[in-house]
Amino acid sequence: MLKDEILLTLSSNSKEFTSGEDISDKLGISRAAVWKYIKTLREEGYIIESYSRKGYKLISSPNIFSVEGLKSSLVKNSLIKEILHYNTIDSTNDFCKNSSDTLKDGTLVLAETQTQGRGRFNRPWFSPKGTGIFCSIFLKPKLSPYDISKITSIICASIAKALLDMNIPISVKWPNDIYLDGKKLGGILTEMKCDMDEINYLIIGFGLNINQSKEDFPEDIDKTALSLKSYLNQDFNREEILVSILNNFEYFYKALLNNSDSKEAFQIIKDNSYVLNKEVIILKGKESIAGKVIDLGHNGELLLDINGKIEQIYSGEVSLRVKN
Ligand code: ATP
Repeated sequence: MLKDEILLTLSSNSKEFTSGEDISDKLGISRAAVWKYIKTLREEGYIIESYSRKGYKLISSPNIFSVEGLKSSLVKNSLIKEILHYNTIDSTNDFCKNSSDTLKDGTLVLAETQTQGRGRFNRPWFSPKGTGIFCSIFLKPKLSPYDISKITSIICASIAKALLDMNIPISVKWPNDIYLDGKKLGGILTEMKCDMDEINYLIIGFGLNINQSKEDFPEDIDKTALSLKSYLNQDFNREEILVSILNNFEYFYKALLNNSDSKEAFQIIKDNSYVLNKEVIILKGKESIAGKVIDLGHNGELLLDINGKIEQIYSGEVSLRVKN
């Protein structure tokens, strides 16, 4: 889109003014058209300074994701081929599911807010506008069903590594949550459709709390949830964090796709596990099993010591509670 091209031109020259003439020559449009797009960008919340002889200068961007900004940060990422950005969506995973016939492999669906965001077992995922990362990666991978079980671990490790690289002391609560200071910072929802032995599509959704203030969380969630801002008392750049997660994911996903290898991702999870060596309760429907987590297996399963007998627990149908 021309508007995005103008934004990209201004943001890549943000220390100086760019003349209207340069923009119109570069994009092959009239100066009046340039002015019209600048007006639209201002209406969207971009602060753009302009002087008749100097041209335009981008002063600040609104607090929304910029698709062009993301694309230019992800030029080297061969996994993400398309980015769809919405202000409001029901759920990014549902959007992918409902559009699975037309979506390309490698599409990132990103929303500022979700009205029906959900976690596992249809539990609601609270997604207040402009505060967090709420997105899904849509893929059509040639993966064996054996390897598909590792996908949640790989995205978990990608998120964990991005945050650890920022010196944020997160941990991973098996099987699908990112924890900080004993509270939930993020969650993952992986869904897929398979025909016989073939994977039709894979949807990797995740929500990460970033710039929510403590007061933003409803009372019931406030006790168990946390954002980076409420923990560290500062705002974070959502785009930078997302780019880092997606680049980590590309790396781990390629290792899985090409060599069926997920050792490095598993090691990150193990080294930063919230559950390892803890007494836990596994809930499966009305059933509950108590035991001690002694290890994580090579397919992302939990190895639980139940009164001296070691059991493998797979994530699909179960929830986990750490005993106090
Ligand atoms: P559990 O963590 O209880 O084992 P789960 O990991 O399966 O369950 P999810 O389905 O991943 O849970 O997440 C849904 C739950 O997370 C909701 O029931 C709610 O309690 C909590 N929640 C909802 N929105 C947020 C949020 N933005 N941040 C943190 N927690 C949230």
